Amino acid sequence: MKNYYIFTLGCQMNESDSERIASLLNSIGLKPVPEKEADLIIINACSVRQTAVDRIYGKLKLWQAAKPKKIIVLTGCVLPADVKKLAPKVDLIFNINDLPKFPKMLSEILSQNCPIKYLPATPHSPQTKTALIPIMTGCNHFCTYCAVPYVRGRESSRPEKEILKEAMKAAKKGATEIILLGQNVNRYQPSFVDLVKKLIKIPGDFKIKFISPNPWDLPTELIDLIAKEPKIEKELHLPVQSGNDQILKKMNRPYTANQYLKLVKKTKTKIPKIWLSTDIIVGFPGETKKAFQNTVKLAEKAKFNKAYISQYSPRPGTKAAQLKDNVPRKEKKRRWKILDKMINAKK
Ligand code: SF4
Repeated sequence: MKNYYIFTLGCQMNESDSERIASLLNSIGLKPVPEKEADLIIINACSVRQTAVDRIYGKLKLWQAAKPKKIIVLTGCVLPADVKKLAPKVDLIFNINDLPKFPKMLSEILSQNCPIKYLPATPHSPQTKTALIPIMTGCNHFCTYCAVPYVRGRESSRPEKEILKEAMKAAKKGATEIILLGQNVNRYQPSFVDLVKKLIKIPGDFKIKFISPNPWDLPTELIDLIAKEPKIEKELHLPVQSGNDQILKKMNRPYTANQYLKLVKKTKTKIPKIWLSTDIIVGFPGETKKAFQNTVKLAEKAKFNKAYISQYSPRPGTKAAQLKDNVPRKEKKRRWKILDKMINAKK
């Protein structure tokens, strides 16, 4: 076995994990190749959305039919219910937190004649201009539709020293963009604002971005820092999910549409050039046409630059999965199109 292909599905956290997997595989002498040529396929996926799960099944069919046989490995944020269904279709499943043990697991499933040699790790490829740096993972919040707390576990912050070291290394290598990743970066411990203040001081011609803060605990201090610091990109991703208070409550999002809009107003006043993006779910259980209109109204007022809109699909094990998924698929699509046209198509 000489080469590999990583199929990444999910958010930037998954992309960052794929970089780590690639770095590890390169360090044991494997080479990245296009999908068709690969002996080893790593699926690094997030099964938080049903569409992602459907894509995994589609790809698996192709890879399983390939000759010679490919070794297929699954990792990422996969819900236990999906792991159970996918297990018989792949050669190995491992928890992304066990990445250091992956070469050993891999050698166990390969023939004894093919030992894996472990070489020193090469963290970033020289071409990388964007450094994705996870600063925390997991979430304590439990929004009712979301599988993250189940697949990523509770919040845990990386040591500040480790993050600063990684950022310094990336800056030295000429990174022009450092993106800090976390399910809710505001919850970074001991302090996200302090971490950003330290990162700004690192010499280098780079901009700092972060994904994602949540609207309910975005500190004014952070808005002020974005406003005054040239090294921080004037961009903010602030997931709203819905513009209807009842739906927000059902989603366990602790803010109202008005509170969200006030925060947007405050941000735009302090940073007039801010590029604002959001996440919206359409067709959540119980979302009536009137409730959806509240989201349309909120979007009109917030004037987002970009929205990542998803059509609701229940994920097993979440609280919302117990609710009746009562918005027809066609209607979800219609609502998706309205928002997409309004927010994204005008660009
Ligand atoms: Fe999921 Fe974000 Fe809610 Fe946490 S805060 S449960 S990651 S949507």
